[in-house]
Amino acid sequence: MSDKDFAEFAINELASINIIDKEDVLDFHREKVKKAYPAYFDTYKDIDKLVEYVNKFSNLYCVGRNGQHRYNNMDHSMVTSFEAVKNIKQGILSKDNIWNVNTEKEYHETKSN
Ligand SMILES: Cc1cc2nc3c(=O)[nH]c(=O)nc-3n(C[C@H](O)[C@H](O)[C@H](O)COP(=O)(O)OP(=O)(O)OC[C@H]3O[C@@H](n4cnc5c(N)ncnc54)[C@H](O)[C@@H]3O)c2cc1C
Repeated sequence: MSDKDFAEFAINELASINIIDKEDVLDFHREKVKKAYPAYFDTYKDIDKLVEYVNKFSNLYCVGRNGQHRYNNMDHSMVTSFEAVKNIKQGILSKDNIWNVNTEKEYHETKSN
C-alpha cells in the first residue's frame, strides 16, 4: 500500500472501533519498523541458554515482546509486566512465572464471522 492508502486504512480502523473521529485527523506519518517480529530461527534454538544467563541478574526483568524475544500479543506482553511487578513486591526471586507467560499452550487467534 502507498503511505496515503495505509494511513486511510489505519484511520478507518481506528474510527470503526470508536477510538477517533475521522475528521479529527490532522496529519499522519508511516514508520516502517525493521525486526518488528521476533524470529524463531537461527540461534533461537539456544534461547534457553540466554534466559538462564539473564536470570542471573536479580534486578533484570525481561518483559514484553522484545524483552523476551517472543511472539507475545499485547495481553501477554502486559501480563509479563504484571508478573514482574508481583515478584518485586512480594520478594520472589524466581523469574519462571515471567518467562512462562504464553508458553502454556499454542496461542491461536480466530476470526468469527
Ligand atoms: C505488525 C504488528 C501487528 C500486531 N498486531 C497485534 C494485534 O492485533 N493484537 C495484539 O494483541 N498484539 C499485536 N501485536 C503485538 C503487540 O504490538 C505487542 O505484543 C506489544 O506491543 C508489545 O508490547 P511491549 O510493551 O512489549 O513492546 P512495545 O509496544 O514495542 O513497546 C516498547 C517501547 O519501548 C520503546 N523503546 C525501545 N527501545 C528503547 C530505548 N532504548 N529507550 C527507550 N525506549 C525504547 C519503543 O519505542 C516502544 O515504544 C502486533 C505487533 C506487530 C509488530
